[in-house]
Amino acid sequence: MEILGFDPIRYPWEAPPAEGAAIEVAEGVFWLRLPLPMALNHVNIFALDDGDGWTVIDTGLSSPKIRAIWTSILEHGPLSGKPVRRVVLTHHHPDHVGLVGWFQSEHGADLVASRTAWLYARMLTLDEQDTWPEETLAFYRAAGMEQEVFDKRASERPFNFADVVWPMPLGFTRIAEGDTVRIGGRTWDVHMGNGHAAEHATFWCREEPLVLGGDQLLPSISPNLGVYPTEPDSDPVGAWIESCERLARFATEEQLVLPGHKLPFTGLPARMRQLVENHHFALERLMEHLTEPRTAHDCFPALFRREIGAGEYGLALAESIGHLNHLYRAGRITRQRREDGAWAWRRAGEG
Ligand SMILES: [Zn+2]
Ligand SMILES: [Zn+2]
Repeated sequence: MEILGFDPIRYPWEAPPAEGAAIEVAEGVFWLRLPLPMALNHVNIFALDDGDGWTVIDTGLSSPKIRAIWTSILEHGPLSGKPVRRVVLTHHHPDHVGLVGWFQSEHGADLVASRTAWLYARMLTLDEQDTWPEETLAFYRAAGMEQEVFDKRASERPFNFADVVWPMPLGFTRIAEGDTVRIGGRTWDVHMGNGHAAEHATFWCREEPLVLGGDQLLPSISPNLGVYPTEPDSDPVGAWIESCERLARFATEEQLVLPGHKLPFTGLPARMRQLVENHHFALERLMEHLTEPRTAHDCFPALFRREIGAGEYGLALAESIGHLNHLYRAGRITRQRREDGAWAWRRAGEG
C-alpha cells in the first residue's frame, strides 16, 4: 500500500554528470548527458563497457556543438582508449537518433534498432522539404491551429529531420519484442513500447536490477503522445496505455531505471501507474470540456491547465489530437468538419 504524500520514486543521484563527464551508475555502465536546444534541454546517453569497445545507447542531436562534445568524450574523455563499436537506438526521435549515422559512417560502429525505428528515422531523414507539404498544412488546419501560428509557420522553412540528424547509411541489426541482446557483459530482454514512438525498445537486465528505459520509462515528465501528418488518425494514447500495462509486469521496486531524460530512478511499479493515470485524468478533463464543439487547439486549457508557449505549441497540438483520437475511437466523442477545415469535436450524444 502506498502512503498518501509519500513519493515512491527515488533518485540515487541528485545531479547529472557535467558536460563531457560520466557517472558510473553500475559496474561498467556510464551515464553521460548532452545538451538540447529546447525547453527539455538535455538527453541522457549511456555507455556500456564491452571489454574491447563501447556500446552507446542513443546519441543526441546532430550539430557541430554536439559533435565537438562527442569528439572530446571519445578522444580524451570518459570513453577514450577504446572505440565505440555499437550504437543501440531506443527510438527514432532526433534527440536520440541524431548522430547514429555519424557513429556508423565516421566511427565504424554497428547499429542495433527496431525495424520501425530504423525505417522511420531513415525515411524522415531522406524526406527533406524546402516548402510545407500540402498534407501537413491540411493537418494543421484540421487541428484548428491558431491563425497567427499557422501563418508564421507557413512562411518559414519547415522543420526537417535532416537539419538535426546525420545521414543514415544502409545496414542495421534488428531487435524485436522478446529478443535478448548482450551488452556490457550482461543479457538484456528486449520489450517494445508504443505511443510515444512506434516500436520503442526498452532493455531489462537479467543479472541485475537495471533497465534501459529510453523515453518509454521517464520519471517526473510525461512523455509526449503525439499525432503527426504521417498517420493523422492514429491513437498513441491507446498504444501508450497498452504498453504501460504490458511493461508494468516486468517492473520491480529494486530496478534502477536509466531513462532518456531527467535522472535515473527507482520505484518503477509506481511510476508505471502514474504514467497511465496522468492520461486517464486528462481524458476525463477533456470529456468535461467537450460539452461544446471544440478544435484540438481549443482543448489546450483542459489538457495542459497552463499557458502553452510558442516553443511547445507543436508538441501540445500533437498531444491534443492524440487524446481526441483516443476518445473518438472509443466512441465517446464525435467530430464534424467546419467550413475552415477544422474538426470540431464534441461529446457523443450532445446534439
Ligand atoms: Zn522521444
Ligand atoms: Zn527524447
